[in-house]
Amino acid sequence: MHIFHRGRRLRSSPTLRDMVRETRLTAADLIQPYFVVESDPDFRKPIASMPGQFQLGLHQLLAEVDGAVESGLKSLILFGIPAEKDPAGSGAYDDAGIVQEAIRRVKAKWPDLIVVADTCLCEYTSHGHCGLVSPSGEVQNDPTLDLLARTAVAQAKAGADIIAPSDMMDGRVAAIRQALDENGFLNTPIMSYAVKYASAYYGPFRDAAESAPKFGNRKTYQMDPANWREGLREAAADVDEGADILMVKPGLPYLDIIRLVRDTFDLPVAAYQVSGEYSQIKAAAQLGWIDETAVVLESLIALKRAGADLILSYFTQDLLKAGHIR
Ligand SMILES: [Zn+2]
Repeated sequence: MHIFHRGRRLRSSPTLRDMVRETRLTAADLIQPYFVVESDPDFRKPIASMPGQFQLGLHQLLAEVDGAVESGLKSLILFGIPAEKDPAGSGAYDDAGIVQEAIRRVKAKWPDLIVVADTCLCEYTSHGHCGLVSPSGEVQNDPTLDLLARTAVAQAKAGADIIAPSDMMDGRVAAIRQALDENGFLNTPIMSYAVKYASAYYGPFRDAAESAPKFGNRKTYQMDPANWREGLREAAADVDEGADILMVKPGLPYLDIIRLVRDTFDLPVAAYQVSGEYSQIKAAAQLGWIDETAVVLESLIALKRAGADLILSYFTQDLLKAGHIR
């Protein structure tokens, strides 16, 4: 019998495989998240459920970023852990708030590094929800928008290169865009957490950012994991409101959604490889059950293949340091 198709012809050597590779991962694709603590500049505490990740005071953050930039880090996203929380999350939009201070310090030292500011209230509210809560315990949409807009402006003033609202309130992208423009930040892009699911994979993050809701859950604002059409509506709304980059979160369990968003919209697409994805890989690797680096690289290339242009990943810094990505 004559075999016409021989797929193996193009797989015969590493160089040939490299030449026909369809998807590539580079340092410019990756964004490293950091958790910055207000209480003490020299604070450094490992996050138990995320081995290799830390809560960092300002000095420790700068030391950590220094090493990463040496290794080729291009971009990071900051999450703040304030010394004090209150029901209105005022640390989020205080010009002297911890993330604003961290942005100023990082940008002063590395002006070319792209600093993304996560824009939300949950790390700053005493109740741990992403918006204002009514006396009956309901997360209030419209009154929250003004606070998110103020947060975005405070972050942009501090020097943030990209504003990334993660709250999932309706109308937040429009409110933030308007506030940024009114304050002269016409050229500051918005990367919206456009399609953000109410996911159990966020568990370890809530330890890291100390942002677990004190009551209830986030299902009245984050999306039902069963829904894909709704994801397209959410993304379309953010496009209409002026988003510049659309994010899907989590990553690997939602490859179908990344592909849908990629095929439906022409904006850059970001995927967030979330804490639970990170911790699963770390835990299995610690047990000796998987090859950590190989699985990490495969998971990231899968996100790119599905259509993500950018990936937020806790593995970024380690991959760069080990020279696995340039
Ligand atoms: Zn939040």
